[in-house]
Amino acid sequence: MALLEVDSIDVSYGNIQVLWDVSLSVERGETVALLGANGAGKTTTLKTICGDLTPTAGEVRFRDENIGEMPFEDVVGKGIAHVPEGREIFTDSSIRENLELGAYIDRSKIDERLETVYEIFPRLEERASQRAGTLSGGEQQMLAIGRGLMSDPDLLLLDEASLGLAPVLVDDVFEAIERINEQGTTVLLVEQDIYNALRVADRGYVIKTGRMTLSGTAAELAGDERVEESYLGA
Ligand code: ATP
Repeated sequence: MALLEVDSIDVSYGNIQVLWDVSLSVERGETVALLGANGAGKTTTLKTICGDLTPTAGEVRFRDENIGEMPFEDVVGKGIAHVPEGREIFTDSSIRENLELGAYIDRSKIDERLETVYEIFPRLEERASQRAGTLSGGEQQMLAIGRGLMSDPDLLLLDEASLGLAPVLVDDVFEAIERINEQGTTVLLVEQDIYNALRVADRGYVIKTGRMTLSGTAAELAGDERVEESYLGA
């Protein structure tokens, strides 16, 4: 049984359908990349998994339980954390306050979780009492990921973690993703950066205009010209 199974979901915004028959699975311990052009439906897929959106058909199963209809708060409690595109950190609050907000599931574990997050992102500990708005773009992205980790998730959903960052910071973010996975968290990441995504991922899927078009191991996809074509053709 896979940790996460997205099984033939259709998803709409109002009466505009944007996903058709989308399926994917993530095994415990894996890093899986969901690739595709702007507007292909990657963010919508993540939002459906984390309970922001409800599929009109199909199922989202986590540890074999159908969570497709579950609201966001309950999904976090099941062990899924979502780091949205655009970070959404509180710039006027301190770094530590931002992190504590991510731990709303079990507040008794805050210190233990802070320690884990600071181990992965030492910079956040050095600046714990500083206003989050004073962090650089890359550091703010680390903070958003750190906040996701505060709920001690089994599955971390990362939406465009490297978007808008300078190349050296992109490398830092992908290194952090590798460390997080090595520490036992399963990762499903959405990326426009095909090269780096397939470098850290075990497997990947390609979505094009709301439909899954390709899947394979990271090595298979890295050598498949249809992956890049699916970006150009959008
Ligand atoms: P990007 O990388 O640009 O975020 P994406 O692959 O994540 O792209 P989605 O954000 O999932 O794509 O968007 C899929 C489709 O759904 C697009 O056609 C988009 O215009 C549409 N869409 C997204 N959000 C809404 C919304 N709130 N209402 C209506 N349509 C939406």
